[in-house]
Amino acid sequence: MKAIPLYEAKEPLAPAIDNGYGYQGVLLLDAKTDKVQCHICGDWFSVMGSHLKNKHKTNARKYKIKYGLRIRTALCSEKFRVTTAKRQKKFAQENPGEMKRRSIEARSRCKKKTGYRRSMETINKHGVCPEQLLLKIRKLAQKLKRTPTCRELQANKISPPVLYFTFGNYRNAIQQAGLTPRMTGDRLKELSYQTNPDLCLKLIQDFRKRNKRWPLPSDFRRTQLLPSYPTLSKYFGSVRNVWKILGRKTINGRWGQVAIK
Ligand SMILES: [Zn+2]
Repeated sequence: MKAIPLYEAKEPLAPAIDNGYGYQGVLLLDAKTDKVQCHICGDWFSVMGSHLKNKHKTNARKYKIKYGLRIRTALCSEKFRVTTAKRQKKFAQENPGEMKRRSIEARSRCKKKTGYRRSMETINKHGVCPEQLLLKIRKLAQKLKRTPTCRELQANKISPPVLYFTFGNYRNAIQQAGLTPRMTGDRLKELSYQTNPDLCLKLIQDFRKRNKRWPLPSDFRRTQLLPSYPTLSKYFGSVRNVWKILGRKTINGRWGQVAIK
């Protein structure tokens, strides 16, 4: 007997949870008998609905969520699915409005219950399940012979949003991959103006040197390299105090823009 994933899935696959049969997010089909495997007991069926209800006291929705299948995945053999699809198509042709209404209703129901979360099946399909990502990160590290940076990961199609949704952040991802993060906590602190008042001042001075003027309020809002007004106020009480510390002069009571050479 050779079982194949009924829907496209990318290696490596994670085993089903709770000592279940098969893999998480994968519906296995026995091509020879055209039956799908129940993740809970490992038996094979043409249609699983009644089996889930009678034997496991659960329903298709709960089952799909638990084993990471898409809510819209049909828990039945290919033959059964095709027959049903044909019947539905015929029904739709005979009742044009009704079928569309039902499909919209079903879709909104799916979204409501799962809270728009992607199932493991969808994640597998795109090759971004946690195990697959960690494997990619480790492979990249082997190639580079060091921990890859966030930018290098991005260049290899592991974007920051993917890391964020899967691991919380870059550091967690690197640690889970068993690698050492490229910067330790202290070094990060030193670099981040969020936690370093001296760096805030230095960034403003650097800006002045680079642009030959003091930053304007819009520069603080726009330039990613400058600390924000709230951050400055937190450390120095007010932005006014920052100017005083940096020795900015007033002209007629207003903060001046004395050109520097
Ligand atoms: Zn079963």
